[in-house]
Amino acid sequence: MTEKTSFVEGLTKRHLIELDACTRCSECLKWCPVQEVTGNRGISPPEKIRMYRDLINNTEGLKARLFGPRKVNRELLEEFAKAVFECTTCGACGESCEVGIFSQRLWPFLRKKMVDMGLGPLGPQANLPKVIERTGNPYDKPAEERYRPWFPQEVKVAGRAEIGYYAGCTGAYESQAMVRGDVLALGAIGEPFTMLPPEEEVCCGFPLFITGQHDRLEDLTRRLVDAYRIKGVKLLISSCPCCVNIMARDWPLFYGQELPFKIRHITQFVADAIKDGKFHFKEGLKEKLIYHDPCYLSRGVGVTEEPRSVLKSIPGVELIEFDRSGLDSRCCGAGGAARKVFHDNAIAMGRLTIDEAVGKGADRLVLSCPACYSKVNEAMEGYDKQIRIVDIMELIAELISGD
Ligand code: SF4
Ligand code: SF4
Repeated sequence: MTEKTSFVEGLTKRHLIELDACTRCSECLKWCPVQEVTGNRGISPPEKIRMYRDLINNTEGLKARLFGPRKVNRELLEEFAKAVFECTTCGACGESCEVGIFSQRLWPFLRKKMVDMGLGPLGPQANLPKVIERTGNPYDKPAEERYRPWFPQEVKVAGRAEIGYYAGCTGAYESQAMVRGDVLALGAIGEPFTMLPPEEEVCCGFPLFITGQHDRLEDLTRRLVDAYRIKGVKLLISSCPCCVNIMARDWPLFYGQELPFKIRHITQFVADAIKDGKFHFKEGLKEKLIYHDPCYLSRGVGVTEEPRSVLKSIPGVELIEFDRSGLDSRCCGAGGAARKVFHDNAIAMGRLTIDEAVGKGADRLVLSCPACYSKVNEAMEGYDKQIRIVDIMELIAELISGD
């Protein structure tokens, strides 16, 4: 680290204005799940911002310009890097921020700065670029097993179609009930849809983006966008909030132009199909369900109503809510690629979600994200409170097929 190190370079004007704007009012502290389970103020949003501001001021601020930059405080820098990677990037702080800091976008770019300076990524995150290059997915699994174990053979996939379906790596390898449910629902709706061959359906880039490793993002985006374009896709559907998020927000930037298709979360597509009379449940369900909003679906792309409208349309269902729901929901602990590095935090956050669902007397906890699904299930292992966990599309498939 030299005195010439720039903490400003690579950040946008918006990022810099946001860093300057924090008033240290501490409103966001009430909403931060990592703060809640660790009690460590060092990782709180105003503290992270203060540390980064100090780094900028000491190296490029007015005094630094007049009298020369101060030596970068290595300890402060390492403390900042840990804090920014321990955050789940859930964005709850931004939603409550009185000056409108869009934290779900700011933290990933500060992570990228840390990566550029050799202070990140942390632990297994560092293997992601190599593994994705080798196998096309972050789980180091063979491409030929991407669809095989879960794809329902009775559903037909068209060679070309205006609707494309992207399963995503976490769904395909870690949350197979969810992606099986997606495909069964698409089959039941009956509009032709297409998919890429398994070796072409590579990672959407989100794990690289969120860990600040942006080098391969343009390449992955081009491969996927061009492959769907060639298949005539006009609407691309996925059930993974992180995939939907990077596709809608960042793919146009990495592709260098507007995408040739629109992006929708599967619950939006299913909610429309129900409204248009193209999809009906074969069975009802006399259960009390509680729905958890995934951070990258609610705060990320603003999808909160459609999953609820799908659940409410199941005959017999009573839908109840967490105290914090919709745009204010509390992270289940699985986000921001922090779940494998800060495992204990993630488990503690997952258990807060379980506690509340059990306390409210829900029969089932409904999720809509493969990372939430995998981590909340893990949080329940060996825990004294138990509740049935189901992905929204897994549940829908259950009610179509009567399994
Ligand atoms: S994004 Fe979430 S975890 Fe990170 S600081 Fe904000 S509230 Fe806390
Ligand atoms: S709510 Fe916003 S302004 Fe207030 S301390 Fe948090 S980040 Fe800073």
